[in-house]
Amino acid sequence: MVSRVIPVDPFDLVIFGGTGDLARRKILPGLFRRFCAGQMPENARIIGAARQDLDDDGYRKMVGEAIEEFGKVGKVDKKALKAFQKQLHYVAVDAKGDGGWDALGKLLRDEEEEVVRAFYFSVGPSLFPDLAERIRSHGLAHAGVRIVVEKPFGHDLESARELNEELARHFNERQIYRIDHYLGKETVQNLMAVRFGNMLFEPLWNAQYVDHIQITVAETVGVGGRGPYYDKSGAMRDMVQNHLMQLLCLIAMEPPARFDPDAVRDEKLKVIRALDPVDPDSIVRGQYTSDGEANSYREDVENPLSKTESFIALKCYISNWRWANTPFYLRTGKRLNSRASEIAVVFKETPHSIFGIDSGRHRNVLSIRLQPNEGMTLGVTIKEPGPGGMRLIDVPLDMSFADALGPEAEEVTDAYERLIMDVIRGNQTLFMRGDEVEAAWSWTDPLIEGWERRGDSPKPYDAGSAGPDDAAFLINKDGRRWRGIKS
Ligand code: NAD
Repeated sequence: MVSRVIPVDPFDLVIFGGTGDLARRKILPGLFRRFCAGQMPENARIIGAARQDLDDDGYRKMVGEAIEEFGKVGKVDKKALKAFQKQLHYVAVDAKGDGGWDALGKLLRDEEEEVVRAFYFSVGPSLFPDLAERIRSHGLAHAGVRIVVEKPFGHDLESARELNEELARHFNERQIYRIDHYLGKETVQNLMAVRFGNMLFEPLWNAQYVDHIQITVAETVGVGGRGPYYDKSGAMRDMVQNHLMQLLCLIAMEPPARFDPDAVRDEKLKVIRALDPVDPDSIVRGQYTSDGEANSYREDVENPLSKTESFIALKCYISNWRWANTPFYLRTGKRLNSRASEIAVVFKETPHSIFGIDSGRHRNVLSIRLQPNEGMTLGVTIKEPGPGGMRLIDVPLDMSFADALGPEAEEVTDAYERLIMDVIRGNQTLFMRGDEVEAAWSWTDPLIEGWERRGDSPKPYDAGSAGPDDAAFLINKDGRRWRGIKS
């Protein structure tokens, strides 16, 4: 099945930090794929803006190398790459000074030319206010301008508020696109399609029929080169406050009246606001130790006394009619035994088994995999084939996108390219609104303050394991077990 590609309007996309890691690994290879798919108009321009002293040719060469290195599998089409490179430009710009801004202004097309103008802030967060200020003061911010802001969006509620206020001095909310690339994943959007496009699931999607919900985002890698940054942040700030909470919102929200940005984001916000504070006994924090070969967390971050968590598991509740008393178990960590992200909706057992005790008790599970192999599985109970009575087994009704839709399904799944095209189209549905971000920090801040006040240390866990034993206990004591990765 070949996916339909609708070209976007002409645009000038300025990538501040256009020579950085994120731009080279994700943003530019993603744009090249959109170019190859025929979605980028010929008169679209991508303008790298960073500190390095480069000219257009130097930048085109750098981007070509990045695409060769980080573009998806398969050979890069040289002819297409050459044509794409022609659409690239570069200006050396200082976010903290006035150098380069006039040159950037000259390169941008006038408002009358009806070209979408977007600025992607792919630089460290300390530069976000400087960029916003200078875009405005150098006269580059007409009413239709959009800005794309990378994570982290604040470190706590206070800093997120300050940043929101800072951006709001120069841009209105309709112009601000706060990126969470989890929302750009095909499966995440499919979650909404499955929930709201089928009659089958929504009537069962509540406390009466759902036993509990699990969200796991497990990584095998450690903190890598991000040590000093990560040590100030930890798994709660780095993963839960944004990615896991966004997934939780999409799973738990009420059906919006329309699939439009504010209708969806209003419903997500209500979920965050209905979250109960979490009991300290329902939070397990962990820190990986060395497996003899790779470093321990403390070695990775070069802080022998660090109390920052590289793993967290918690149980929380949403106090509303739909979800009262239904536990949501969230878990994420580094250096675990597998790389897997899964949302599992675990339904209740049937109220009565007509097949007798020997047939066992079974629960349907809808598993939504974000990686690897994006797709969904619905576990159903059937009779075990063969003679010998009525024995029941669970089998998956599987829908792997690659199998069902063909190889093109893989082609369209990269989150960044989809989200950038949404920016050009002016669709904010998959971007976080300022009040959502602040509400998320309002929920996580007291939890973080709680363990800091108590001086709690994270539990050590072996690199390559499923995390600390206490995390298993957190769910096992409720008569349930984790799914998604090996225990
Ligand atoms: P990086 O350090 O690799 O690149 C930083 C870029 O900013 C460079 O192009 C540099 O020239 C430019 N820059 C720095 N100071 C500047 C100044 N004064 N004026 C103009 N340009 C300046 O960083 P990165 O890893 O690409 O991350 C960029 C942003 O994206 C950060 O906010 C980061 O948190 C976020 N992010 C990165 C990743 C990732 O995988 N790298 C993932 C998610 C979010």
